[in-house]
Amino acid sequence: MYLFGTRQTFEGGLYLPDHKTRTAKRPIETLAPTGPLMVPLSALGELPTTPVVAPGDRVIEGQPLAMPAAPESLCVSAPTSGRIVRFDHVWTALDGLVPCAVLEPDGLGESAAVRRQWESDLFLTELVEKGVVCPNPRKAAHVLIAEAVAAGVTELIVNALETEPYLTADLRTMVEMPARLIEATCEIADAIGALRVRFAMPDRHRRLVRRMVSEAAGRLVEIVPLAEKYPQCHPTVLIKTLLEVEVPIGRSMLDVGVLVVPLAMIRAAAEALLDGRAVTHAVLTVSGDCLERPGTYRVPVGTPIQRLLDHVGPTAPIAQIVSGGPLTGVGVQRPDAVVTIDASALLCFSRPPEPQPIECIHCGWCVEDCPVGLEPVSLLQLEAMERISVEDRERLLACIDCGLCSYVCPSELPLAAAIRRTRRRAAGGPTKATGPNP
Ligand code: SF4
Ligand code: SF4
Repeated sequence: MYLFGTRQTFEGGLYLPDHKTRTAKRPIETLAPTGPLMVPLSALGELPTTPVVAPGDRVIEGQPLAMPAAPESLCVSAPTSGRIVRFDHVWTALDGLVPCAVLEPDGLGESAAVRRQWESDLFLTELVEKGVVCPNPRKAAHVLIAEAVAAGVTELIVNALETEPYLTADLRTMVEMPARLIEATCEIADAIGALRVRFAMPDRHRRLVRRMVSEAAGRLVEIVPLAEKYPQCHPTVLIKTLLEVEVPIGRSMLDVGVLVVPLAMIRAAAEALLDGRAVTHAVLTVSGDCLERPGTYRVPVGTPIQRLLDHVGPTAPIAQIVSGGPLTGVGVQRPDAVVTIDASALLCFSRPPEPQPIECIHCGWCVEDCPVGLEPVSLLQLEAMERISVEDRERLLACIDCGLCSYVCPSELPLAAAIRRTRRRAAGGPTKATGPNP
């Protein structure tokens, strides 16, 4: 086993300022529902569901509100007990306006009986009924696992690296439930028939690494501490670092026999499979430069972002809210948007980004730091071109959207956003930017 030896890493990338000190040591706090919850009726985007409750119904925590209406869909359950007031629509950071059930909590916290026993042939059914999602790639966990089985995947990698600044939800989850994470990892490894399982985590937290190693002793899981170089957390880069295997351009990790799952999916699987509970809360880092109580919060799905921010206590007017990491997240345009099950972070900044781009000074930093060896500045020029060659399209597809080129550019050129727009145009999709660095 590799443990604190030579640091495994990759060409390019950067060690970013981490901004994690204030949230890393603070225990996960559960936010009590203090007002109506606008619970999206689909766990992810447009996965179809059929409501099984009606206005006026009383529900308890964990009771299904909507059942899957397609094989790739999931159950949606009530995050707390209360009464269904009406059906409506609500804004979300990633999916825009979506249908929701408005649930007025009654404060009793009554929950559905947990089911701790399940048969192994009901494994995928259990994930569907409990609403387990994978935030990256963004799909239902049972679909991802079925795809991995069909592709003959033999390697499972759990990604607990969080190499973007501010993010500490994975770290807190490992500190607070290490044994259950290993247990859930073994269940998923068993379901896909993995021959080898690696659990990648930051090497800086040595005591935690030792704890995880001790929890994994005698199991199939190998704890692999890695440097927190960004974007080590990206599946393509992680596979390259750990297995020295390149994922071919335009192909998926499953095509090289590997499944990388984020720690958030393992946590949700632990709640579903080991605790027998429906997954109804998101665990997310709430941080930034203007909050009184930044930390990791366990938040009922459907909680308005504004209510969460009121609880955390802004210390200055918030100029920008980002859902996700500062380099890869999505700008939240509306504070009445709600927390969704796949939310990993909510970052608030008091200073709006005001880049003042000037001409490229040919410093070469973007080329030096690009983790997949591209020349971002030459890809920037494609935006003004009417036609994109096959070779250039390949280069656009090779970009993993890590945002590092924009971050390092001293000329403040919006490289990553321009590449993202051009890639969408080349693929025939919309060109509207959604990231924090448009
Ligand atoms: S966003 Fe794309 S081009 Fe820019 S550094 Fe990352 S991988 Fe390279
Ligand atoms: S980092 Fe910016 S200024 Fe430097 S070469 Fe790249 S685009 Fe030009």
